[in-house]
Amino acid sequence: DAELALEEDTAPGATADGHPVDLLVNIGTAADAERAAAATDARAVAGSGLFRTEVLFLDATAAPSVAAQAAEYTAALAAFGGRKVVVRTLDAGADKPLAFATLADEENPALGVRGYRIGRVHPRLLTEQLAALGQAAAETGTQPWVMAPMIATPQEAAEFAASARAAGLTRVGVMIEVPAAALRAEAVLAEVDFVSLGTNDLAQYTMATDRLAGQLVDLLDPWQPAVLELVATTARAGRALGKPVGVCGESAGDPLMALVLTGLGVTSLSMSLGSVPAVRYALRRHTLAQCEAMAEAALSAASATQGRAAVVDLLTEEA
Ligand code: PEP
Ligand code: MG
Repeated sequence: DAELALEEDTAPGATADGHPVDLLVNIGTAADAERAAAATDARAVAGSGLFRTEVLFLDATAAPSVAAQAAEYTAALAAFGGRKVVVRTLDAGADKPLAFATLADEENPALGVRGYRIGRVHPRLLTEQLAALGQAAAETGTQPWVMAPMIATPQEAAEFAASARAAGLTRVGVMIEVPAAALRAEAVLAEVDFVSLGTNDLAQYTMATDRLAGQLVDLLDPWQPAVLELVATTARAGRALGKPVGVCGESAGDPLMALVLTGLGVTSLSMSLGSVPAVRYALRRHTLAQCEAMAEAALSAASATQGRAAVVDLLTEEA
């Protein structure tokens, strides 16, 4: 009924026993931010867990100026009016080519100069973007959370954190989407304030399976126990250091997987706006202990298919 629907739309993300899980939306532009903020209650959607800023760059024939970038970031921060906004620095290369900055012709672009690594050949792209974000923070009086994509080592995390802090940014993190970074999550987290798991690329690199190769989707499945083990390793590091560990890959928007991720210790889930109600509903109907049992079942399964089936069985038993 209408009253229940309204309650569902305004309740903060939490399990049945009140364990909080921030529910966030993925955006690509300030216009997306305006739409998402206008459509949602600030308690129900805590902000954006992934602002894919490359949308600004991909169609451009020249790098957008610092002023143009600052205007876009200011608009996004202002739209959310103090809600959390996690801005990802430029994630170009491989499946996201840049028109204005020629990248090397690579045999294996997914393993090449992409994401944070672009700074090796075009360092100004990163420094200008961080300067624009610093301006947007000053302009709005709101600190964005800022993270770099495709980080592989604690050294890269430290280097990015130093650059971001030099630009006046105080909430600095990195994405965990390369298995090496997940395996060394504690050392990576020691350098930054938070991390966010990109399960799309984490599955691609863990399973050695091109994310664009349609005929290999069974291998690319985020339910693969090996992928979940890397999520668990990262979440454990977050707990040990008392730092947030989010998920912003597509898997966060699957209600069943959201329960598993919560059980593994993930503290926020960022997804497309349309996925939020179903994830909120699933969380509110299960306790943290039930989510932990589901996580254990998915982790110890022999395959992705068996893991998902085992979690569905646990759902069915409760009904
Ligand atoms: C991911 O890799 O899971 C992610 C969120 O980033 P993108 O899909 O933009 O690579
Ligand atoms: Mg990614």
